[in-house]
Amino acid sequence: MGESEDITEIRRAVRALCADFPGEYWREKDRSRAYPSEFVDALTRAGFLAALIPEEFGGSGLRLDAAAAIMEEIQASGCNGASAHAQMYIMNTLLRFGSEEQKRAYLPGIASGELRLQAFGVSEPASGTDTLSLRTVAVKDGDEYVVNGQKIWTSRAEHSDLMLLLARTTPREAVKSKTEGLSIFLVDMRKVVGNGLTIKPIRTMMNHSTCEVFFDDMRIPASSLIGEEGKGFRYILSGMNAERILIAAECIGDAKWFIDKATAYAKERQVFGRQIGQNQGVQFPIARCYAQMRAAELMVHHAARVYDQGGNPGAEANMAKLLASEASWAAADMCVQTFGGFGFAEEYDVERKFREARLYTVAPISTNLILSYLAEHVLGLPRSY
Ligand SMILES: Cc1cc2nc3c(=O)[nH]c(=O)nc-3n(C[C@H](O)[C@H](O)[C@H](O)COP(=O)(O)OP(=O)(O)OC[C@H]3O[C@@H](n4cnc5c(N)ncnc54)[C@H](O)[C@@H]3O)c2cc1C
Repeated sequence: MGESEDITEIRRAVRALCADFPGEYWREKDRSRAYPSEFVDALTRAGFLAALIPEEFGGSGLRLDAAAAIMEEIQASGCNGASAHAQMYIMNTLLRFGSEEQKRAYLPGIASGELRLQAFGVSEPASGTDTLSLRTVAVKDGDEYVVNGQKIWTSRAEHSDLMLLLARTTPREAVKSKTEGLSIFLVDMRKVVGNGLTIKPIRTMMNHSTCEVFFDDMRIPASSLIGEEGKGFRYILSGMNAERILIAAECIGDAKWFIDKATAYAKERQVFGRQIGQNQGVQFPIARCYAQMRAAELMVHHAARVYDQGGNPGAEANMAKLLASEASWAAADMCVQTFGGFGFAEEYDVERKFREARLYTVAPISTNLILSYLAEHVLGLPRSY
């Protein structure tokens, strides 16, 4: 099925912007583990990061399929959208559940680039994937909440003004279901860094600007609460479908990049007096990755369509993320194999993209947890944990 002219035009515009950020730019950032501020600024100025913000708040009011196309093209161009993708997927929680007052207070600033909404504080060191066991607490004290606890893997915390934070507001023992009693806050980090909030970067195998964050009697206004107290887990789950679809679109972009690189190299590299791509042992893995990527791409488009029609595509978003992350990782591995020794050399960018692509079968949700979701919620098998 063909896509709309608008989306084709968005893809062209994203590609044009990304052409100003070639491999050398990313290699330099990767070497020094520096945040690609110039790239994020360019995306912001062009309005791409405000794609999902309604026009009345200064954004372009596009649907999720357009946002997915933006993220896909960034990755397919060899850039790394992980520096900015949270703004897109966090946005949904604020858009769907934020009050009119919160939207007026923050969305125009986010749309103009004056404010950055890039940090998402859910994961904790002790609870891991078992989000409902998180230990960070927010206790109401007059017209404030006092937050204590710790988050891990809070990516871009050093490069964001706002953080969407999930914390427990009612003790687990005091609620009927463990999904109750959690709340979502939009924290203005500018007011609390060094004053209850401490951020510590974690060095990882790829350049991802991820951090640990510590809350020690961090006081935030009660107006930071999004929606109703205690309903935060429901809100976050709804936002997570958008997140999974957008990450899946990024994986499709990565897979396309690896397939294009490998195809071009297989045509160009001569060994034994002929192109390596003439050998079926080299062709077939590329062709297989292409088929795998195209199948995953269909599921990503389908999930985005269901989301845009107002549905709650839990199964589709999870399957899109599962299939796309596996397609991009298979393509990454195939690309290194096709390049032989040069796949390991920094100047070809393959090894950098290989390290970057590895993340997505683990985060933002691991493959096992998706399989577990499908087994239980789609196939009706017994809950395993
Ligand atoms: C670079 C990076 C950036 C990240 N950015 C963010 C961010 O911005 N915000 C945020 O909140 N989080 C972020 N995360 C966290 C990420 O979402 C988690 O790492 C991911 O969900 C896996 O959780 P975990 O690391 O605690 O693994 P664990 O829960 O410790 O799991 C370890 C392994 O055991 C498996 N496992 C656990 N339980 C089961 C089970 N019942 N059945 C089968 N297998 C199981 C998992 O699949 C996994 O493979 C980031 C992580 C990384 C590495």
